[in-house]
Amino acid sequence: MNHSTTTPEDPAALVARLRATFRTGRTRPLDWRERQLTRLREMLTEHREDFADALHADLGKPRAEAYRAEVDFTVKEIDHTLDHLQEWLSPQSVDVSGVFGEHASAGTQYDPLGVALVIAPWNYPAQLLLVPVAGALAAGNAVVVKPSELAPATSELIARLLPRFLDTDAVAVVEGGVPETTALLAQRFDHIFYTGNGTVGRIVMRAAAEHLTPVTLELGGKSPAFVDAGVDTTEVARRLARAKFANAGQTCVAPDYVLTDPATARALESALAEAIEAQYGADPAASDAYGRIVNERHFDRLSGLLGSGRVVTGGQTDRAAKYIAPTVLAGVKPDEPVMREEIFGPVLPIVEVEGLDEAIDFINERDKPLALYAFTGSERTRERLAAETSSGGLGFGLPMAHLSVPELPFGGVGESGLGAYHGPHSIATFSHRKARLDVPLPA
Ligand code: NAD
Repeated sequence: MNHSTTTPEDPAALVARLRATFRTGRTRPLDWRERQLTRLREMLTEHREDFADALHADLGKPRAEAYRAEVDFTVKEIDHTLDHLQEWLSPQSVDVSGVFGEHASAGTQYDPLGVALVIAPWNYPAQLLLVPVAGALAAGNAVVVKPSELAPATSELIARLLPRFLDTDAVAVVEGGVPETTALLAQRFDHIFYTGNGTVGRIVMRAAAEHLTPVTLELGGKSPAFVDAGVDTTEVARRLARAKFANAGQTCVAPDYVLTDPATARALESALAEAIEAQYGADPAASDAYGRIVNERHFDRLSGLLGSGRVVTGGQTDRAAKYIAPTVLAGVKPDEPVMREEIFGPVLPIVEVEGLDEAIDFINERDKPLALYAFTGSERTRERLAAETSSGGLGFGLPMAHLSVPELPFGGVGESGLGAYHGPHSIATFSHRKARLDVPLPA
């Protein structure tokens, strides 16, 4: 039976239909899982241009970024999973001979959970939806896929394509906003994987609690970048600018603000202005490498943050075009508006601290970040940051790069999230690790 995604199916009936498929055992064999991943890969490569068009319509996303951070990123994750899936799924054994004798055996195996729900945000609306979906399928689950309504072109494309490529008895797309998501959340799932903000994260977790459903919450927050005295500020500025202004700053792991000493701050100010010009030209509005803000609400919110500190470069806005120039703000005080919420846009404040001790206190007095970045030549500083702070990920030298290493768990801690995924960590997330003990009867 071919289920059209444009005809909304009653959520209870939908989940029951997928659960019935799961119960047949069809999603368990390695063959089925590999077939789904291969088809998902084909969907992405055959429709690479359609994805780039949709992402441009939704976010003014530059084509190079659409390929790199959405289509190709997801394809690489799928390839890595296909290369290693069998090995990741192989049962692990533990030695129980000392307890139960030499004929006894024990170990663990990964069991698929059942029907997973994946809810994605708008900022990387393909990657952040399809990478978790790939993980859920690789782990042998049926999946309900909920794209973000704030990226409508990408949502529509995925709703149209997924059923053409994947097993529609086990995978279904539900488009829509709050009412549709609320109706879905009332159902019993076996795992809910949510990426987005902490307010909705709490709604998801409350709904999940009704059914004791495990959740993964991939949230955000303010990810600091500490810049130590004595570093090459030209190179640091280049790396910061590349990470911060990709997708017009609308990246959960973008460096949110810079923490540095006053002298390094002065050097960074001019270096950042130069790096931005080198990246986007004198007028970033004319650059096809620079994106736009997703909607008027976020544009207005971000415009309100431009009054903090002193503008070093940028500050220009155009509401009709949803354009905000790459902006650096210097001399920002910790209590100013730009430091009171996650920025999630192309505004980079520089906050001055006296040195490492004050930086560590500054970080630890706030919510645990999704990522902490540091540029330093000192091994001791790296070790102190690693030992004395807590964050989802820790990146020295190259912001955001840790998320492209599939063997590293990607996720937050505390306010920045709960659980992790990518590569083998997706299998762990979407599976139950079952303990198994076999003590034979006497012959
Ligand atoms: P969003 O508004 O697209 O929301 C995400 C999803 O939640 C959507 O599918 C939406 O339909 C659903 N939703 C919204 N309101 C809801 C409600 N009341 N009840 C049920 N469902 C609801 O995305 P967003 O939250 O604006 O995304 C931005 C946030 O996400 C930032 O905080 C960012 O840091 C974070 N983020 C985190 C990651 C990560 O991997 N950790 C990645 C990207 C974004």
